[in-house]
Amino acid sequence: MTSATAQSRSVRVRDHEVPTALFIDGRWVETDAVFPVRDPATGAVLGEVADGTPQHALQALDAAVAAQAEWRAVAPRRRADLFARADSILRSRAESIAAVMTAESGKPLAEARAEFSLSMDFFQWYTEQIAHLHGTFAEGSRGGYRVVSTHQPVGPALLITPWNFPLLMIARKAGAALAAGCTVVVKTAQETPLTCALFVQALVDAGFPDGVVNLVHTTRSAPLSAAVMADDRLRKVSFTGSTEVGARLLSQAAPGIVNAAMELGGDGPLIVLDDADLELAAEQAVICKFRNAGQACVAANRIIVHESVADAFTERFVALTRALKVGNGFDETTDIGPIISARQRDAVSGLVKEFGQIDAELLTGGHEIPGDGYFFEPTVFAVKDRDNPICHRELFAPIAALYRVASAREAIEYANSTRYGLAAYVFTSDISRALTVAEQLDFGMVGINRGIMADPAAPFGGVKASGLGREGGHHGIYEFLEPKYLAITVD
Ligand code: NAD
Repeated sequence: MTSATAQSRSVRVRDHEVPTALFIDGRWVETDAVFPVRDPATGAVLGEVADGTPQHALQALDAAVAAQAEWRAVAPRRRADLFARADSILRSRAESIAAVMTAESGKPLAEARAEFSLSMDFFQWYTEQIAHLHGTFAEGSRGGYRVVSTHQPVGPALLITPWNFPLLMIARKAGAALAAGCTVVVKTAQETPLTCALFVQALVDAGFPDGVVNLVHTTRSAPLSAAVMADDRLRKVSFTGSTEVGARLLSQAAPGIVNAAMELGGDGPLIVLDDADLELAAEQAVICKFRNAGQACVAANRIIVHESVADAFTERFVALTRALKVGNGFDETTDIGPIISARQRDAVSGLVKEFGQIDAELLTGGHEIPGDGYFFEPTVFAVKDRDNPICHRELFAPIAALYRVASAREAIEYANSTRYGLAAYVFTSDISRALTVAEQLDFGMVGINRGIMADPAAPFGGVKASGLGREGGHHGIYEFLEPKYLAITVD
């Protein structure tokens, strides 16, 4: 049984009210079943959220399909005005959203605030593009007709987001889709539905029409997504998450030839060449590795250091790692928050054991931190045996693996010897050398002398098993648009 209301049931998280229902066709929809959302820093339940079924997801798709024609016809300026209103509502709630994000994801408040700011940069980027989409007009190549080329929204889209960047992922996807004129069904990650609910609530309060934005939470992602994917009214799936789930969704997209964008896993190499500024490299490598407790797709998964500077780099990297303070994200002195769940924390322990079984030396960390929350020490291994499969597994953990190489060539070869191709990093004081190395790295993004690079002006995404398509840049909005041309006879 479900019931639809104009008012939503809500939960109070650190003095902030958050709706806990699904949002379908302009109404908050309660469900019989609910599931708990936990604070990973304490293990405590923050509240219970509506647990959607495949039927709810199909109702959300019904609404998105019904609203598609009208949303697409909304004049660009009016659509941009709605975005601008949502933008100012979101900004007025910045502190609430950051606090809820820290409560359910565990990330330090400073990181939650930075994520809010980056999310708004993306949202604004798409807002600015709405009224600037244009086409072309050309003479037909054989004369006698004209070719007008334009774009149209691809159609109703399913957006599936992960828990590690709960606001950025929904803002980046929904921003692009809605700006392009697509209606959406958002399926949140079970661990972090509350931040997404606050995002959707802001759009609702801004006046987005009924059916344009729909929100579904669930504990049964596989059957729920499969039901939507099997419906041929769905025209786009945009997914961020693991390569395994992405591959499954791609196979579900195949029968209906559903347009698919995939932002998947990574095995990012961070290369430190012999002429690098070692202080900068160590400082950036620590940020790149340990931000979000290592739970980032673009994290440095393999830190590859030229042997002539390896001792000096390692000493500095380990010192900076030891100085990181692990704790509750609401403590302003915390650098690293908890792991997202007890299960994931146990997986981190398992990885440490696996490194212990190969030719790898533990330089610092390596232990769970006892207590109610899911904390783990920032850990560093110097690894000699790089043929082991663990040396190419996406760690997604606060574990840094350091490897030594004898040359830039060897660094590039090892960097590229992976199925993934998301983000890579290179540190050198010679910009020409940096470009040469970057051009040879089979990755969608390369940071040069920096460990953080997400930006709305840039096309974020990977190659190989790291994904298909791009978010941001001039490419992001076109992921949700199809080219279309008209051939017009002229006398
Ligand atoms: P995940 O693949 O387990 O889950 C991602 C989303 O998919 C969640 O909403 C989850 O509920 C849903 N899901 C799980 N199984 C599903 C199924 N069978 N059908 C449909 N949906 C399903 O990934 P995660 O653990 O939440 O996130 C970690 C992974 O995401 C890592 O591999 C990381 O690299 C990747 N990631 C990639 C990017 C990127 O931009 N490339 C960004 C963040 C995270």
